[in-house]
Amino acid sequence: MTSKIYGWRRATNLVRAGLARTLNNETTETLYLNSGFVFNSAAEAEAAFKGENDVYIYSRYGNPTVNVFEQRLAAIEGAEMCRATATGMAAVFSALSCQLKSGDRIVAARELFGSCHHILSEILPRWGIETAFVNGSNLDSWRIALSKPANAVFLESPSNPMLDLVDIAAVAELAHSAGAKVIVDNVLATPLFQNPLALGADIVVYSSTKHIDGHGRCLGGAVLSSAAWMNEHFIPFYRNTGPSISSFNAWIMAKSLETMELRVERMTSTASKIASWLSGHEKVLQVRYPGLANHPQHYLARRQMIDYSNIVTIEVAGGKRGAFNVLDSFSLIDLSNNLGDAKSLACHPATTTHARIPADERIDCGITDGILRISVGLEHIDDLMEDLLQALAKAC
Ligand SMILES: *Cc1c(COP(=O)(O)O)cnc(C)c1O
Repeated sequence: MTSKIYGWRRATNLVRAGLARTLNNETTETLYLNSGFVFNSAAEAEAAFKGENDVYIYSRYGNPTVNVFEQRLAAIEGAEMCRATATGMAAVFSALSCQLKSGDRIVAARELFGSCHHILSEILPRWGIETAFVNGSNLDSWRIALSKPANAVFLESPSNPMLDLVDIAAVAELAHSAGAKVIVDNVLATPLFQNPLALGADIVVYSSTKHIDGHGRCLGGAVLSSAAWMNEHFIPFYRNTGPSISSFNAWIMAKSLETMELRVERMTSTASKIASWLSGHEKVLQVRYPGLANHPQHYLARRQMIDYSNIVTIEVAGGKRGAFNVLDSFSLIDLSNNLGDAKSLACHPATTTHARIPADERIDCGITDGILRISVGLEHIDDLMEDLLQALAKAC
């Protein structure tokens, strides 16, 4: 099913796109918590399995509540089609594996979420797929890797946790000349602040566990692309391998989209103030935030992003001991590896989310032992600053 075009502005799409009321005319989106559907006749069932009519068959293939979430996200992203998945990693893995086969080559930014890095460096090579990692922020590095034919390009921008950027439009052009489809993990930017499809990417993936749910309740993900790519590559893979989302989780996600703009805009405004304020702190050696003028790719950020989202990465004095002291001293900010939540969360990437990446590669990406990633939530900015002040005082 291709997504409908509603002709509304984004704020309206966030609240209303995909809404399909039943005959009872309920106000809010209905939860269809069912696995199967019945047919009116054997002939209708036959037609459904041939794809000749538009009825639901089985919730692994599609479900009305899941469809609300998919339609709503597609409208916001401006994508022809969206499919929701059980987790963000199911979205990443199915987008990659439906596109690639033995003997293929994928070029990827080395600055990736830990599990994405594992898929590219451990799982795909087992199936005879070659992965070439490049320095994502260096266009020459992409140019060299894409001077040979490739089948896919995978990147995350801004990257987690160092917030490095990839010039999506420039990489898409190089990738297309090399014959590759461009897959962008757009989790940190969110669909509000960066539109990879408009920049030339072919496929966008999300972990909706993060800002889309935004309340730390459910796992989920999504893959968005053109109807042509989805129908040829993604849908047959999705229907037969089963990464589908539970309709309950999709219902939560669809409802959460209604408030996403309010939440993410507030978190972003707080994050940007905290990033500037932390820049002057004596225990903070470095602040990474794409909205700061001292970010190495600030101009690219201004060109490619609408705003800079809610993640602030800092390097604290005292290395691992300093970072652990700060984390252990927080009384408001929680120690957790999730992000995009209404509650502010902080983590130490070198020993948690990125612990499995070999130390030399990790340091090469800038993830040193003093690095802390802070996902700024919806608390009052003064309470967050007070907590940061007292915790940073105990760094070393
Ligand atoms: C969290 C995350 C994922 C994985 O999502 P899950 O929902 O946890 O499976 C992938 N990419 C990025 C950038 C993430 O932050």
